Amino acid sequence: MAEETHHYDVLVVGTGNAACSAALAALEKTPRVGMLEKAPKRDRGGNSALTLMMRFAFNGMEDLRPLIRNFSEAEMRPLLESLPHRTEAELWDEIMRVTNNQSDQEMLQVHVTESLKTVCWLASKGHEWVPAAMRDDSVVTLNGGGAGLQQRHFAILEKAGVVFHHETAATELVEDEKGRVTGVRALTSAGYATFNAKSVVLACGSFESNPEMRARYLGPGWDMIRLRGVPFNTGDGLRMAMDIGAMPHGSWTTCHASPQDINLPVFTVPSAHILKDSPARYMYPWGIMVNTNAERFVDEAWDTRGRTYAAMGRAIQAQPGGIAFQILDAKIRKMNVYTPNYATATTAKADTLEKLAEELDLDVAKFVKTVTGFNAAVQPGKYNPNRYQLDGKSTAGINPPKSNYALEIDEPPFEAWPVRCGMTFAFGGLKIDPKTSQVQHVAGRPIPGLYAAGEMAGGLWVGNYAAGSGMTAGATFGRIAGTHAASTALKS
Ligand SMILES: Cc1cc2nc3c(=O)[nH]c(=O)nc-3n(C[C@H](O)[C@H](O)[C@H](O)COP(=O)(O)OP(=O)(O)OC[C@H]3O[C@@H](n4cnc5c(N)ncnc54)[C@H](O)[C@@H]3O)c2cc1C
Repeated sequence: MAEETHHYDVLVVGTGNAACSAALAALEKTPRVGMLEKAPKRDRGGNSALTLMMRFAFNGMEDLRPLIRNFSEAEMRPLLESLPHRTEAELWDEIMRVTNNQSDQEMLQVHVTESLKTVCWLASKGHEWVPAAMRDDSVVTLNGGGAGLQQRHFAILEKAGVVFHHETAATELVEDEKGRVTGVRALTSAGYATFNAKSVVLACGSFESNPEMRARYLGPGWDMIRLRGVPFNTGDGLRMAMDIGAMPHGSWTTCHASPQDINLPVFTVPSAHILKDSPARYMYPWGIMVNTNAERFVDEAWDTRGRTYAAMGRAIQAQPGGIAFQILDAKIRKMNVYTPNYATATTAKADTLEKLAEELDLDVAKFVKTVTGFNAAVQPGKYNPNRYQLDGKSTAGINPPKSNYALEIDEPPFEAWPVRCGMTFAFGGLKIDPKTSQVQHVAGRPIPGLYAAGEMAGGLWVGNYAAGSGMTAGATFGRIAGTHAASTALKS
């Protein structure tokens, strides 16, 4: 029996935010858009369905108006007091700062200058934002989080007639004799099928769900890491593209990984995701972290939380057993800076440092020495646990230092949260032309008919990342990919 075949102008692989943004943009030019998704329908949407917010450039209140349906200046004003703007220059600077000036400048230029246009474009399609809650790293957040965004994406695309093929894993790219990509071969629940297309957009995530690739690129120990997100992103798109000569790009040895509850599941799927029970443990800048040797091992606040959390997972993974303890005291608890999800965190609590150490099975004398040594090193200054601004209140004479938010841990009860590293996604990807999102060949020319977006596009993130950037980059380069893929399709 002949293999089943389908025909589209634009075929998009994946159904996360980058893929849906590509499909939305392609629809502006052609209705013949198809999407392939490896997961069953209930778990489509990828990691994008597990997110909260997008980081984008804005100059003030006026720029936010198009994003919020019932815009209230009174509600926005207090939020804008802590973050009145994030200009293009500021967004550029903070990404260069977190990547140690290694972000691909051509990609970053597009990412930064298109970010506000992209969120306004999404709003024009029916997406919406709401004023941000305390734990977010922006003044507005996606209504319903990433789950809400993805539900809206699916409703808009399905209404426009886009065909979704679920439980359909792309396995290889099909090329003609000139090296033009003419479709995708995929494994469906009924067997192999061929999806012919005039252009293909790959937006099927990075390789974080593939233990062999994690070990190969990220190094020993990463094969056994737990995931914050879906088990479906096994690097298939990267492999398929590199099999036909696509150029790898960006940092293949670093990744986004953050502190998570010790009981982080091995992976999470969209249908099991509950926003308020997030296992993320991002209170570390306000206190200290120690390893199982009862020693501090990292400057907990070398920068703001949104600019350190994606690298902090790797610092924890490097500790014995890949485990650490976040330690805070009653003073900090009273300041009402706790994120709501700490209510469901795995925790230990005691009235003395000695008892807390016993509960954590740490060497008591060493733990007490670490905490009292830290306390003695705290310098005068005003402690201000503000998630956007550094307070400069630091330690002196200890190693590692704490550069900001250094406050003595001396008021009982003392609390501790055991944490581990949870991997979010890998930074390595494909080289694309940032103006078109077209995939580049190792031979130094574009691959005809092939585009990539989202985590598949490498170059922006190196070693670290700024919170909320992945969703914005996915939407921006997805939109660009969809537009150019459809234009190419209509010309052929
Ligand atoms: C818990 C969590 C919270 C996060 N919070 C934020 C946040 O608030 N803000 C932010 O900017 N970023 C956040 N991120 C990062 C964010 O999820 C990514 O930057 C973003 O989702 C990447 O989008 P994407 O479309 O490239 O990938 P994904 O959304 O992961 O989509 C990839 C899709 O491809 C599919 N797929 C994989 N292989 C195949 C195949 N062979 N064939 C067909 N389909 C395939 C997958 O099933 C999936 O649907 C978070 C990540 C996690 C895990």
